[in-house]
Amino acid sequence: MCTVCGCNDPSAHGHEHDRPHGLHHHAVGAVHGHHHNYGDGPAGLSVSGFTQERLIEIERDILSGNDDDAAVNRARLAEHGVLALNLVSSPGAGKTTLLVETINALDGSLQVAVIEGDQETANDADRIRACGVPAVQINTGRGCHLDAHMVGHALDELPLDAGSVVFIENVGNLVCPAAFDLGEAFKVVVLSVTEGDDKPLKYPDMFAAANLMLLTKIDLLPHVDFDPERALEYARRVNPAIGEFRLSARTGVGMAAWLDWIARRTHGVSFALEG
Ligand code: MG
Repeated sequence: MCTVCGCNDPSAHGHEHDRPHGLHHHAVGAVHGHHHNYGDGPAGLSVSGFTQERLIEIERDILSGNDDDAAVNRARLAEHGVLALNLVSSPGAGKTTLLVETINALDGSLQVAVIEGDQETANDADRIRACGVPAVQINTGRGCHLDAHMVGHALDELPLDAGSVVFIENVGNLVCPAAFDLGEAFKVVVLSVTEGDDKPLKYPDMFAAANLMLLTKIDLLPHVDFDPERALEYARRVNPAIGEFRLSARTGVGMAAWLDWIARRTHGVSFALEG
């Protein structure tokens, strides 16, 4: 979790923060064959120079502010009858390609808008706009996740028509986006078969927070060691209620079930998770 690193609020530490963000995350791991676990304390992480109590306090302050903004977004989306889906994954899992092919497959049957989150560039928003749908690019700089405040401003620039879908493509990162509610109806975690099938166990917070897991790039399964059944078993170990689809955006295999899942949640704006 990155809530204590200050990327969400530069004043959170009460001092200037000039270390690269990644330096906070390097502590957990095996060194010389030993297992060092820095997540055993009540804060669930360790930051040099901070007590566990202070870490908990900082995290609570950041997340409560975010939760307030998320509640505003959620109420606004519900008022407009808009379904918002928050797509999260590692970098390279294929979120943008999935969105492009989802938009192409929907072929105008649902109105779609997209919020793109990346550290830098507008490349992904450009790809989405090339499909003919509105997109807002958010660049987070050194920030490693979207927060509800950023998403609120992006919603200002989108049409928010009743019955439409807003896809929010989060910054590629399986750690920090788990903690930040954006006001979405559902969090969708994308896991590609070119990654390890034990990701749900390695990054349990994200899979615990997600409503749905999409196993993507399944056209590559013959060429990799990824076991979809094992990935699903691991995901259900951390989140017994998680839904799952397997698909390839490139070939179209499995896309129909995903499109149907979306459509069933937009019609009548019923946000119930039915598996
Ligand atoms: Mg992308």
